[in-house]
Amino acid sequence: MLILSNEHFEQMVAHARAGLPNESCGLFAGTITRETKTVKAVYCLKNTDANPEHFSMAPEDQFNAIKDIRKNGWTLLGNFHSHPASPARPSEEDIRLAFDPSLSYIIISLKDPEPVLKSFIIRAGTVAEEPVQV
Ligand SMILES: [Zn+2]
Repeated sequence: MLILSNEHFEQMVAHARAGLPNESCGLFAGTITRETKTVKAVYCLKNTDANPEHFSMAPEDQFNAIKDIRKNGWTLLGNFHSHPASPARPSEEDIRLAFDPSLSYIIISLKDPEPVLKSFIIRAGTVAEEPVQV
């Protein structure tokens, strides 16, 4: 279970909308117990691909985010990216590039007027949706 405050949810959606027509991306961090990940911070990163169908996180942005996560004693919980025109589920490329089963992969779909956010755990090519509580 992933716990996301309304503020963090809005932060991700705003970043996704600001990046249109391209995909947007970022990281999020917080605390973790056996069953629950609680988001404490969202880092909006630059998509250096500037592309509507894929993304690469700017290395300098990633470095700064990791530095801040360490400084606060948080754990990197996962990353997020937007799908400007497709549903909130991982693409084949998303699954191929998901190398860490301990991370949550959030996808925000802007296909419909109301944004849809879903989180996934991806382990060796197998996708499982993770419950999100906003
Ligand atoms: Zn994707």
